Amino acid sequence: MNVILLGPPGAGKGTQAKMLVEEYQIPQISTGDILRAAVKEGSPLGKEAKACMDKGDLVPDSVVIGIVEERIQQPDCAKGYMLDGFPRTVPQAEALDGMLQNLSSQIDHVVSIEVASEELVGRLTGRRTCRDCGVGFHVMFDPPEQEGVCDKCGGELYQRDDDNVETVTSRLEVYESQTLPLIDYYKAQGKIRPIDGVGDIKEIFARVTQVLS
Ligand code: ADP
Ligand code: ADP
Ligand code: ZN
Repeated sequence: MNVILLGPPGAGKGTQAKMLVEEYQIPQISTGDILRAAVKEGSPLGKEAKACMDKGDLVPDSVVIGIVEERIQQPDCAKGYMLDGFPRTVPQAEALDGMLQNLSSQIDHVVSIEVASEELVGRLTGRRTCRDCGVGFHVMFDPPEQEGVCDKCGGELYQRDDDNVETVTSRLEVYESQTLPLIDYYKAQGKIRPIDGVGDIKEIFARVTQVLS
């Protein structure tokens, strides 16, 4: 089963993806996580990406398309995968369709997590992320048992450089202009599964698993 998790920054894609990985035993492919790992390594790709990410802009299509093309052909993706944060533009979606056609494969579901923008700013500025395993928490809505420490792996929690009010505002604008058109793109393919993303995290998980089963 190949799934895309679509939704604005802060909709809960990463949170749901981590739970879905356990439920379905298929990997999460987060282009944001992959880019942050490259930034941490200080590779040339990381340096190019960091400049875009810090401004809240998108990294160039060619860069992320290359990353995903390589990743989905790894053996652990043979039984399916969850794309989290990709595609984010129509050219990315078209490139994905092209590569899947070449691999005689396809996307089965596009889970579109819907949350009003007023709620997203508070979710993003209160987000804390594990340096080691990438799991997300929230200072109010999903606090870790011990402040600053990941429940899952004991790693240190930090606030992402781009989770400040200014960058969040740009990211939400970029979402509206570049990513929102993907809903129509996948509607035309009959693959959109809309999910109300407001409410208890577990309840939303139940909604998602219902449409995937
Ligand atoms: P995305 O990957 O879509 O950007 P995240 O999964 O990282 O979003 O969630 C953004 C923030 O909102 C995190 O701090 C997370 O803990 C919190 N969050 C996730 N789901 C919910 C929810 N249903 N209600 C309130 N806060 C949530
Ligand atoms: P969020 O979970 O809050 O939506 P991500 O971790 O998915 O954020 O992405 C963080 C940043 O990484 C984006 O603002 C963008 O700069 C870059 N990025 C991630 N995925 C993509 C993509 N598919 N295309 C272009 N840029 C991307
Ligand atoms: Zn962790």
